[in-house]
Amino acid sequence: MIRNSSPSGFVLAILMRTALCCLFLTASALAEIRVSTDFEGGNAEVVSLDQRTKTLHIMPELREGRGWPCWWYFRLDGLTAGETFTLEVQAQTKPFSGDQVLAAAWCQPKHAWLSSDGETWTASDEGTRSADKVMSYKLKPTAETLRLAWGPPFVPADAEKLLTEIAAKLPESKRFELAKTRGGRPVNGIRIGDENAPHQLWVGSRQHAWEAGGSQVGRGFIRWYASDEAKALRAKTCLHFIPIMDVDNATLGAGGKEAIPRDHNRDWADAPIYPEVAAAQRMIAEIHQKHGLDAYIDLHNPGAGDGIFFFGPFAFERLTGIQQRNYSRWMELAAANITTPRPVEPKYRFATYVKTDEERGRMSSGWVRANAGDFTISITLETGWNSPLMSVEGYSSIGAGLGRALAAYVEENPRRP
Ligand SMILES: [Zn+2]
Repeated sequence: MIRNSSPSGFVLAILMRTALCCLFLTASALAEIRVSTDFEGGNAEVVSLDQRTKTLHIMPELREGRGWPCWWYFRLDGLTAGETFTLEVQAQTKPFSGDQVLAAAWCQPKHAWLSSDGETWTASDEGTRSADKVMSYKLKPTAETLRLAWGPPFVPADAEKLLTEIAAKLPESKRFELAKTRGGRPVNGIRIGDENAPHQLWVGSRQHAWEAGGSQVGRGFIRWYASDEAKALRAKTCLHFIPIMDVDNATLGAGGKEAIPRDHNRDWADAPIYPEVAAAQRMIAEIHQKHGLDAYIDLHNPGAGDGIFFFGPFAFERLTGIQQRNYSRWMELAAANITTPRPVEPKYRFATYVKTDEERGRMSSGWVRANAGDFTISITLETGWNSPLMSVEGYSSIGAGLGRALAAYVEENPRRP
């Protein structure tokens, strides 16, 4: 029986009713599907969200001046386990540069990638593309919350975690900050091995922010490099490794490719725009002057197929002597060691879509070729993305294969006459 009519009792009753009311509202709000992108790498412009049919239609949001709008990554809350959810993806309609609108295919992988914990990523069933160029994926969520992405993401927090893991495993390694980006964010790397070691390697990824698979390959590589299998290689080698170069665009969920005023991988000029490119140039030049650089490997992930290949030097057919021998030998060893989830193509491809020598010289691999030695190999490893084989595990296996190829290559001493 309630006899209490004092003001404090009255207030308490009101508060309790309000609390109950809030609980009820929270419960009903949970039934609503919500989209969020407020985290590293997050990107989605909601075109429509139909709560009744559980259909979300998005396009990659344009990050002005920050390159191709192809990447998307968002979290859904308020799902019902077991109830089909439909994701539709279309191209961004606004131009990313001048009057260029990006073709839909770049933002429409055959499979969307799903994760309930942000760590483990699985491919959805294959999507279907309509005549009006909308890709539709049918999903069966197993939990109330789901992360969805264009491909398995790799953001600066993942880079930090990876560098911490490797540094803990190899106490002799040394973490370093390559530079602060234009946006003031650190671009971090790790050096493994004695600075004065007889062999010197530089491996880096994500000059193109949307090519997250490049960092996934990098993670597989550096984990292999820190493993017991790589002990002999580590003993005679100094490696510099950068998991993400374009930290700004990777953080903002921007594509980066063909950014304004310059694509990251066209910035290897006399006066780079991006501080991390300038810093990499300084460090690589110094390493080469002091000790000689054996290999520069840039990891990319551009292809809408599932091929894995190397871009080699444009003049490959005309190379002679030690250059010819080393580039050819590298290809043989790479083909022997990069075999899963698909074998690497046993012949170089050439980035012939880059037309002028001036522009070719502003690509990182071209700049390194021009600024290193006869025995240096400077190449890019290009992985495709449009396949369920290109999973976290698939990319990681490519990275381990890359490590094994480097071990075999260094073992033969690429500096021998
Ligand atoms: Zn690229």
